[in-house]
Amino acid sequence: MSPRLWAAGALVVLVVALIGFAAAVVPWHRAPAPRADQLAALGQLPADQVARSRAFHAELRPASYGGMVLGLLVALVLGLTPLGARLIELAGRPFGDHWLARAVLGGLAVVLVAELVSLPLAAWRHTVVARYGLSTQTWGGWSVDLLKSFGVGAVLGAIVLAGFFTVTHLAPRWWWAFGAAGAAGLVVLLSFVLPVVVEPVFNRFTPMPEGPLRTELLALADRDGVPVKDVLVADASRRTRAVNAYVSGLGPTRRIVVYDTMLTEATPGEVVSVAAHELGHAKDQDVLTGTILGALGSAIAVIALYLLGSWQWLLSLAGVESIGEPRAIGLLLAVTTVAGLIAGPAQSFVSRRVEARADTHALTLTGDAATFEAMQRRLGTVNLSDPDPPSWEHAMFASHPSTVQRMAAARAWARGDR
Ligand SMILES: [Zn+2]
Repeated sequence: MSPRLWAAGALVVLVVALIGFAAAVVPWHRAPAPRADQLAALGQLPADQVARSRAFHAELRPASYGGMVLGLLVALVLGLTPLGARLIELAGRPFGDHWLARAVLGGLAVVLVAELVSLPLAAWRHTVVARYGLSTQTWGGWSVDLLKSFGVGAVLGAIVLAGFFTVTHLAPRWWWAFGAAGAAGLVVLLSFVLPVVVEPVFNRFTPMPEGPLRTELLALADRDGVPVKDVLVADASRRTRAVNAYVSGLGPTRRIVVYDTMLTEATPGEVVSVAAHELGHAKDQDVLTGTILGALGSAIAVIALYLLGSWQWLLSLAGVESIGEPRAIGLLLAVTTVAGLIAGPAQSFVSRRVEARADTHALTLTGDAATFEAMQRRLGTVNLSDPDPPSWEHAMFASHPSTVQRMAAARAWARGDR
């Protein structure tokens, strides 16, 4: 059997595994609460607040979608014309055209071009977010964040590109097998490492101070049977007024993080409600599920790239001989950008179902639908979320059920509709 036939077989096996795993672990049946409940919830929100959040999103949309379209265009130009390959040759020239220099420096050059082109739109988004008072950042702080995220991306990207092209260099026929295993392993490793290595680059995390709230949160976790060593507070207020909480990491790096803004903007009861939602993620092993889905997905992506590499027409557009050579980085960017846009709605759909399950967990654990609903209203108001966004936008991009869907779910739960 040829390597290509093996790759096709492995691809089929992995796709079946991904579908089977997703079918088994994603809570597909958690459809949103009845539309009538959603509309009733919407009717009870203050009209001026709803109007303000809608005006905010209307102003944000051109910059957001413009940025998306521009990112796609840059990727297509760098990937489907010889321009990307030319850029990578230039980046590797000072190092004697060595493949490793082309891989790392060429990759950075490609990403830098894409970042610089989309920079004006990112700045435009910041002006809107700042004008509505959601961002507390000056241009200085905003620029520092931008440089930090480019730095983190550069380090991670350099590791990934150096690893990938070392494998394609050493095993030109079988790189897809090593690459797929490496990509899956990297996703698992990052799940452990990102919370403790990357998150602190952007925020300071301190244990929540002793007091009634901390005691109550730890008691809640105890009652839920979820081992939590600590509840951390992130200094999000130096960047935003938005409130949030999340759970990240696996095993010993698992932590529940509450934004400091949450402690000043929300009541203690609402913080407990949010923490109960986060405990739901921990109890249902949502981070682990996401990691396994991500690992399978990235292994599939590597093999699909390998198979796509036998498409001569695509290679000739990019002016490269093989998809496994560093000059093809632009083509890799184009293919992954398009694949990301196509996979986005499916990922969002899965995420919304998982979030709905965590909401039900919070309701069951606290038994307090009224506070849960008040918390959703608070989250929506402070974060300027559109409580009932256009359905196409919700389907394409929303990672969480909308505010009115979450309020309606609490009402249905209180009625005994579980
Ligand atoms: Zn959640």
